[in-house]
Amino acid sequence: MNISAGLKAAAKSLVNGPRAESFRAGGKQVVCPHCENILFHRKKISMHTAFSSLVNLEWTDGEANVLVCANCSRIEWFYDNVETEKS
Ligand SMILES: [Zn+2]
Repeated sequence: MNISAGLKAAAKSLVNGPRAESFRAGGKQVVCPHCENILFHRKKISMHTAFSSLVNLEWTDGEANVLVCANCSRIEWFYDNVETEKS
């Protein structure tokens, strides 16, 4: 498997994994602004990254919640924890 195929497989497993869920943030259901899908894959991202330096968040030890749209793979960032929608 070459690197490109490996990356494609990794992206595919991220987007097409079995754990797509719907979420609430700020009391509202999260909806993809691009395709209006409500199913996302959640990833927890440590804020101790180059990104934290970039946006001046070095003071925090927190983790951000990243929701990847299960349909179009658009990424939504939430600093606070997002709740799983109870179905
Ligand atoms: Zn989408």
